[in-house]
Amino acid sequence: MRKIVLLGSPIAHSYSPAIQNAAFNEAGLAWRYQAMEVAPEKLAATIASMRVDGWPGANVTIPFKESVLPLLDEIDASAIETSAVNTIVNKNGHLVGHNTDLRGFIRDLHTHWQAPRAGQSLILGAGGAARAVAFGLAREGLDLSLIARSVSRAERLAEDVRREFGVEVTALPWARESFVRASSQCTLLVNATPLGMMPHIQESPWPDGVPLPPDAFVYDLVYTPADTRLVQQAQQSGIKAVSGAGMLLEQAVLSYELWTGLGAPRERMRAALGGALERSSAWGRTEDRTDRREVLDA
Ligand code: NAP
Repeated sequence: MRKIVLLGSPIAHSYSPAIQNAAFNEAGLAWRYQAMEVAPEKLAATIASMRVDGWPGANVTIPFKESVLPLLDEIDASAIETSAVNTIVNKNGHLVGHNTDLRGFIRDLHTHWQAPRAGQSLILGAGGAARAVAFGLAREGLDLSLIARSVSRAERLAEDVRREFGVEVTALPWARESFVRASSQCTLLVNATPLGMMPHIQESPWPDGVPLPPDAFVYDLVYTPADTRLVQQAQQSGIKAVSGAGMLLEQAVLSYELWTGLGAPRERMRAALGGALERSSAWGRTEDRTDRREVLDA
């Protein structure tokens, strides 16, 4: 049995074991995907053990997407751009870091939305996911506004994106006037903050009393619950909106393909994700969602 692990802390929230194990079963691979709770001080030793134990690869999640970079042998372009790794491929002990969040987001976005000729994309947040989204959109030539609680973080991201792609990027503070200003030209609104994520389902990143941009498509990276408050607000205003479940699926598809070299059974993975999302609503909104048999301790 070959093992792929998800390294993170906490990892009890992850749907990835359900999605990847469904794919391995469908392909008839004797592979198993297991979430591994790793304490920060054990990350280096866990990565070192990957080389020895010969795991074909791993996923990396919060809080290790950045701190894992110096522990790897090679970093591909997607991970260099985003300064974050979410997928490791083990080539006979040579560990290569990739980032499938960026392509996963762009792939799913374009199944729902085609970029108009004019207008700006507005990204809320300036963390790891916002960075992937910003690089993905800027590569397509789109101008951006960023609204973030930490303006210095947003300014750093804006500078990196401008330097790489030459598009216009404005960094604004997390203040009501910023939302009013940025929404006037906004054709795509992406929430890349955790606001609205379970168990805080009553929260929305969008301030009360400011109308959502009427012509924008809304993409909420949060996928638990599937209908976040932001998605509901948009739909109630007649604005098209989706949650981040599609991005989660696409990044998983891309990771599977990197590890196995095979085309991924996307529909089987989609069904497994759908089942996991349904179970999570049925179990209640605050419980762990990972099958405990799939959680290892480092
Ligand atoms: P992160 O690196 O921790 O960044 C979070 C960002 O949100 C930071 O800019 C942070 O601001 C901001 N933020 C947090 N709480 C806030 C609040 N109360 N008010 C305003 N801003 C706040 O996290 P991440 O990895 O980017 O993930 C962000 C979200 O995207 C999470 O919900 C994650 O689950 C989701 N995500 C989804 C997918 C998918 O496949 N759908 C993939 C990746 C991430 P500060 O810098 O000031 O802390």
